[in-house]
Amino acid sequence: MSFKGEYQQASLEQRLPDNEVLCNLSPRNCKIKDGQTGFCGVRGNRDGRLVTYTYGKGVHLTEELIETEAIYHFAPGARILSLGNIGCNLNCQYCQNWKTSQAKFVEDKDVHSFTPESIIETALRHNIRVLSWTYNDPVVWHEFVIDTAKLAKEAGIYNLYKSACFITEEALDELLPHIDIFSVSIKAIDEAYYRKLTTGWLQPVLDATKKIYQAGKHLEVSNLMITDISDNEQSARNMAGWVLENLGPEVPLHFVRFHPEYRMRETVRTPIDRLEKAQVIAREMGLKHVYLGNVANTKATSSFCNYCGAELVHRFGLSAHLESLKDDGSCASCSKEAHFSALDLNDSISETSSRKPSDEFIRHTYEWRGDITSVHVQVKNPSSQTAALYYRAGKEELYLWTEVMMQPGESYRFILAKSNPNEIGLEIAMPETMTSNLFEVFDRAHFPTISVEEGVSENDRTALPKFEGKQIPDKLKLSLAELNP
Ligand code: SF4
Repeated sequence: MSFKGEYQQASLEQRLPDNEVLCNLSPRNCKIKDGQTGFCGVRGNRDGRLVTYTYGKGVHLTEELIETEAIYHFAPGARILSLGNIGCNLNCQYCQNWKTSQAKFVEDKDVHSFTPESIIETALRHNIRVLSWTYNDPVVWHEFVIDTAKLAKEAGIYNLYKSACFITEEALDELLPHIDIFSVSIKAIDEAYYRKLTTGWLQPVLDATKKIYQAGKHLEVSNLMITDISDNEQSARNMAGWVLENLGPEVPLHFVRFHPEYRMRETVRTPIDRLEKAQVIAREMGLKHVYLGNVANTKATSSFCNYCGAELVHRFGLSAHLESLKDDGSCASCSKEAHFSALDLNDSISETSSRKPSDEFIRHTYEWRGDITSVHVQVKNPSSQTAALYYRAGKEELYLWTEVMMQPGESYRFILAKSNPNEIGLEIAMPETMTSNLFEVFDRAHFPTISVEEGVSENDRTALPKFEGKQIPDKLKLSLAELNP
């Protein structure tokens, strides 16, 4: 059955003559006729009322690490419960989650049902203290996000919102009281770029980001640098300059590596030297915390004290280890402010277990390949008993097992990431009664829908499934300078 089988009243509705409605959730302000849907495909008009088709419907919930969301200065290394919806109010030509973000491509097998209560119960049972609204942009999941975020707060759980923030001021006003952490993706400080490559426009994004900052929320900004389009020095200067002028030098900025995807498969990953140049430029301009994303084995992802140079947090890929930080977020070597918070959440990092899997357990192994340094493991415990599965970073006995407890009937998905250059793979052990699938994650905040059992991409740069439609025309593959002379 299509996810549109059930629906409920949506907020931010404006009723119009002739049974039409206007949606005030995103700046598109779609005017929708009876029986039709808006641009996002997940909100529509039923009998003259604005409805949402996706309340409580999304992709499989997934345990990840907070670094997945380009959040480096709030609880480094903390585990999060990632919640992704279906549909989006943008249609970026390079979307890595196009299979679930564009409503017309969504398949029933990828849609799961939740209630706010079931999400909180899962988070608490797995000792997770941060919910992350992520993958497809959470804007179009507005009502469900707010209802769940309210319950999460009551349970002492933080809410993280990873978004392109193409949202109206009215909707943001409703959201702000419930969200603690914002990871905002600004694509470029360029109106032409937004119009041509995202189908949205720039000013609402900038207005929303400023408002989030002024509200005193934890905010980090990321900028995906698209090969030969937005990976030039001027683009980096524009981005850093806007953050400096409108937010402040202490707001972290992440320059993120792109992989070919969706309508932009016929290109290459962003050259790392261009990302490194952007980092140098932004630091020289005065930003204090500038990082690279979607790169693993480099110092450019770790945090260093701006005063004494001590390494504060060591990162490799998605893993983070606190090195020299005091509990108050200052540098342990020189006591200067380093702008970190919620360091106490590190007690939620997975504990390795002294317990081991039974010799009778089924073993699965995976070896890292190229740029793929993390996988999602999706496990189902169909039995009527609580059961444990185990994983470790390799077959050798020097690696300790980590235990994951599964409720009867539970389906759980979690990320495993390479945490140092010497690890060559991982091993999972589970009872014969459990079933599992493994999904290669190409970049952070990527939600793969094809498991390795169903097929493996021919390279480590472009995920399955392959988009069969047209690639963007060459005339759109213009540098920013050409787009905006
Ligand atoms: S949320 Fe959907 S229906 Fe509402 S204005 Fe945006 S694209 Fe249109």
